[in-house]
Amino acid sequence: MKTASYFTRLDDHKVRCELCPHHCVIREGKRGFCLTRQNKDGILVSANYCRPVSTAVDPIEKKPLYHFRPGRTIFSTGPNGCTFKCSFCQNCEISQEILPTREVSAAKLARSIIDSRTIGAAYTYSEPYIWYETIMDVGSRVKEAGLCNVMVTNGYMEPAPLDDLLRIVDAMNIDIKSMNPDFYRRLCKGELQPVLRTCETVKKHAHLEITNLLITGENDSENEIRKLVSFIATNLGSDTPLHISRYFPRYKLAHPATAERSLLSAWELAREKLDFVYLGNTHARDKADTFCPSCGALLVTRSGYRTAVTRELARQPDGSTRCGTCSRKIALVPA
Ligand code: SF4
Ligand code: SF4
Repeated sequence: MKTASYFTRLDDHKVRCELCPHHCVIREGKRGFCLTRQNKDGILVSANYCRPVSTAVDPIEKKPLYHFRPGRTIFSTGPNGCTFKCSFCQNCEISQEILPTREVSAAKLARSIIDSRTIGAAYTYSEPYIWYETIMDVGSRVKEAGLCNVMVTNGYMEPAPLDDLLRIVDAMNIDIKSMNPDFYRRLCKGELQPVLRTCETVKKHAHLEITNLLITGENDSENEIRKLVSFIATNLGSDTPLHISRYFPRYKLAHPATAERSLLSAWELAREKLDFVYLGNTHARDKADTFCPSCGALLVTRSGYRTAVTRELARQPDGSTRCGTCSRKIALVPA
């Protein structure tokens, strides 16, 4: 447990948490919407500080991050709780309930990451943003050791804490679940606009990839996909990788699993404006591979979590990458 960052003390021992746009006003003894920040005697504390709900060494592709150190592994960990309550949450057991966890010290958690012989830490599984104090304390140590930090997040952030995070976070995968504000309110109990603002800020300072879970009948219309793709192309850049992921019924949503043909249609629409579009949770052929957007040369192959960078991906002396066939610059951080 640690005193939280970003809160204001109010009358009657209440506090207002200012970490995320919910701005919960929390009475003494109670927790905020995310279940993890608690009012203890008029002070806001991070109740899940350095309490990982799980740890594992994963391929970076599993996050998913396809254009950041492809083929490498990363120490993955994360907390209980979430700032959203998505009715389709694929990790509801850890995002919507408080589980028994054991606190470790920031130094010990950082040491496990540094000793893991991976590229660094991925904060993931539920919503890592509510682990803000943990990420700042652990992530600083990871960074000092020359390793990287990445976050897999819903992007529901406030600008000031995000600026702090971006001093130590190298890459993020952010969910844009829909371009419809009503979708966010109805199905996630949050707002769309702060998520889009986070994406724009992150793109300026770190490596960014976007994930969209395509849900049957909710966000899979042509109009909706075109809006998402236009936002990415215009505001983030057409070189921003987009992962379109297949939905399966889960938690409170019983809509049928996304049809393969819907995924393929979404992929084709997205490719009209975006250079790198991938399909996830499906076996569609070639849709996890990276091709040069100009000449079509195969640059990275992925099968399951087996990744191979081909000789076509040419690393430049300045660390950037180009297509070996046509010399086009490829937005990819090499291994
Ligand atoms: S981080 Fe949690 S407690 Fe703080 S405003 Fe967001 S939901 Fe509320
Ligand atoms: S943001 Fe992610 S972890 Fe949180 S409730 Fe939604 S799907 Fe679950």
